Amino acid sequence: MTDTLSTARSEALFAEAQALMPGGVSSPVRAFKSVGGTPRFIERGEGAYLEDVDGNRYIDYVMSFGPLLLGHAPEAVVSAVAEQARKGTSYGAPSPLEVDLAEMIQRIYPSMERLRFVNSGTEGAMSAVRAARGFTGRNKVVKFEGHYHGHADLLLAKAGSGVATLGLPDSPGVPAAVTADTLVVPFNDEAAVRELFGREGDEIAAVLVEPIAGNMGLVRPRDGFLELLRELATEHGALLVFDEVMVGFRVHPGGAQALFGIQPDVTILGKVIGGGLPVGAYGGRADVMQMMAPDGPVYQAGTLSGNPLAMAAGLALLREVEASGAWQRAADAARETADAIQRAADAAGVPVVTDAVGAMFGFFLTDEPVTDYASAARSDKAAFARLHRLLLDRGVYLPPSPFEACFTSSAHTPEVVAEAAEAFRSAFAAL
Ligand SMILES: *Cc1c(COP(=O)(O)O)cnc(C)c1O
Repeated sequence: MTDTLSTARSEALFAEAQALMPGGVSSPVRAFKSVGGTPRFIERGEGAYLEDVDGNRYIDYVMSFGPLLLGHAPEAVVSAVAEQARKGTSYGAPSPLEVDLAEMIQRIYPSMERLRFVNSGTEGAMSAVRAARGFTGRNKVVKFEGHYHGHADLLLAKAGSGVATLGLPDSPGVPAAVTADTLVVPFNDEAAVRELFGREGDEIAAVLVEPIAGNMGLVRPRDGFLELLRELATEHGALLVFDEVMVGFRVHPGGAQALFGIQPDVTILGKVIGGGLPVGAYGGRADVMQMMAPDGPVYQAGTLSGNPLAMAAGLALLREVEASGAWQRAADAARETADAIQRAADAAGVPVVTDAVGAMFGFFLTDEPVTDYASAARSDKAAFARLHRLLLDRGVYLPPSPFEACFTSSAHTPEVVAEAAEAFRSAFAAL
């Protein structure tokens, strides 16, 4: 199949990039391996749109995989970053911006009695586990199959399906010894979680969960599942860690913990809180966080942590979101887009399940409900790849994998969504 758009400059850059960087990219999914074709090299972003180096414009439903709740280059963030840059880009010393952003986050996520800024979600997850292990004096960590907590060694394990198993590393370079204490269970499997806690509960430091899964496509928790995790963790003296790096400020302004009314012991944030600059944070109960140096003996540090440019960007974005109807518009756009996909697929007779939660949505090309990794993996990946290319040709940029959630922003106006809906209709008809 040939593109109707010219992608000559992206192709040339991709060839050059592949000689310089593994896969030609700085993060694997960007290489388009699971959808085929040439990744678009981006020249600029504006509102809901991306423009590539060949001058093609796309409605962007990736939003940098989550951070851009106000769309690309919103004036509030751009001017805050420019103004801060003139005052210095990094101090290696505390600044008032960290206090302001920490106060704002804590007001919205009151479970984060103390928090610390890091540079990515990966770092936040890695540090949260270290804090939990330091606090409990235990080593075992529970995670769910298909849940992603960044690329730290011990969390790169998803293991087999069906029963609780010892985690096996997903990646060469991760020694089995490092994931030996990582216990992996299927998401939404109450019996497996109960069985695991029954057997090893008193050795478990933490249970890490994406409270709404977003890294195997969008998959909600079953009613009562997160409550069960809360109950079992408390009963066994383990910490409940919500990884809200993706869903924080998206599924609800107060994240999944506000949406479901569940208080985790530790929360990991990232993406939106950096306003498009590299930031992560972890925080939670004061007694847990007081384990961290210099208050306590658990070490964690960062040359650029709390970086003033990133703090300024995050603050500007969150202030604008609080002061405007931005979150609601982004959430409306997610629901409208999911509905448009459902209608387009129905009209073309293509089986699909769609869902939207706040300012994110997802869909699977399948006719069965998706509740865990196994059911997500049974969706039609080849059809997704074809659909992805058809949509690029029609000016809509979806995440280049069937296992990524889709993201909206306040710049996804009803007009933008209507334009996308027409592309969905035509693409599904051509599928
Ligand atoms: C993106 C993501 C991470 C990793 O964050 P990075 O900033 O890419 O390191 C961790 N957890 C979840 C749930 C994520 O979506």
